Amino acid sequence: MTMQGVGMMDKEISNLIALETKRQNEGIELIASENYTSKDIRDACGSILTNKYAEGYPSKRYYGGCEYIDAVEQLAIDRLCKLFNAKYANVQPHSGSQANAAAYRALLPNGGKILSLVLNDGGHLTHGSPVSFSSHLYQFVHYPLNKDGKLDYDKILEIAKIEKPDVILAGYSAYPYAIDFSKFRKICDEVNCYLMVDMAHIAGLIAAGLHQNPVDYADIVTSTTHKTLRGPRGGIILTNSETLIKKINSAIFPYYQGGPLEHIIAGKAICFKEASSDMFKEYARQVIENTKACRDELYRLGAIVSDTNNHLFLLNTLDSYNLTGLEAQILLEKANITTNKNMIPNDILTPNKTSGLRIGFAAITTRGCNKNEAILIANLIHNILSNKLSIEDARKQVSMLTNNWKKIEEI
Ligand SMILES: *Cc1c(COP(=O)(O)O)cnc(C)c1O
Repeated sequence: MTMQGVGMMDKEISNLIALETKRQNEGIELIASENYTSKDIRDACGSILTNKYAEGYPSKRYYGGCEYIDAVEQLAIDRLCKLFNAKYANVQPHSGSQANAAAYRALLPNGGKILSLVLNDGGHLTHGSPVSFSSHLYQFVHYPLNKDGKLDYDKILEIAKIEKPDVILAGYSAYPYAIDFSKFRKICDEVNCYLMVDMAHIAGLIAAGLHQNPVDYADIVTSTTHKTLRGPRGGIILTNSETLIKKINSAIFPYYQGGPLEHIIAGKAICFKEASSDMFKEYARQVIENTKACRDELYRLGAIVSDTNNHLFLLNTLDSYNLTGLEAQILLEKANITTNKNMIPNDILTPNKTSGLRIGFAAITTRGCNKNEAILIANLIHNILSNKLSIEDARKQVSMLTNNWKKIEEI
């Protein structure tokens, strides 16, 4: 198979890309943080823009020859600001984690205090995990979810009054409900601290107008571009504050990063244009509908699931099927259904086992999955996990579904 951008000189790598292409085409991808980029985006990311050094920012570079690079990056910034109605943006973070590192540096001194969600309740590693830089540079304190697995804004205020943090952090990796950023703003105003929002997971829903926009409330908003936003792998930072954008820019370069990935920034620019289209709005609406349909069907079949009003939900595999999240993940993977084990609120097992799965519909909705198919997938998952369907028969059903959908090379 000839693959765009892959030199036929290197058979080892081109073979591996061909195998990964096959894996992606033949599987039902339910990992909530994944998605498929358009060919335009992949072309930009594989383009000659990778050859150029451009340390600095548009019209303030440390290298010559940045005429066209400047235009690419400025276009990305302008499109991003328009998409989320922000005054300022930085499109250079190599990842969501880098974006968070720079946002922290802009907002508080080393040793400063950040109030974030309990990590096992759905926070990200960069929100204070012992294995992340974040917990070494800053002091993290946490707010829990309530018994229903939902944010409890009164409790957050109560903790904030006691802890007096420099920053309150909202935005999560495994939270299946809408977040009320206006309530977070009120809490921050009451205790006089900054509000930072990490919208990595829900950026696409926000771009489509299907979730409250944190840019209207937060001092800094960070995100990835490769989850529901459906862009290339990378990070972004937004703010309406002129003082903060200066600090953000110097935190990204020269503090944390060197030369920006201008080929990826070109891909981001295309992503922001795509995400502003009516087709994208329809896509995001369909993601939410599919997620809800799959969740409701699992519930109807007797499984214990969270509710959802976004692109993901949590399935309690331990109480539903007497399987740990890890066991359930492995079983589904044998049938070419990819998910990830995930802690559920008040989990009794460790993060490497867990009691549940996180299931999301952003990726396969891009391939054309509809509501009826989402319901079929719920039955597939239920029958596999309750041992009512052989792996062989499950695989046949999976390939019938994936054969209906767009090939990932054609997206
Ligand atoms: C995915 C994610 C990130 C980090 O993204 P990377 O690009 O993998 O570094 C940060 N915050 C949240 C909430 C995420 O879900």
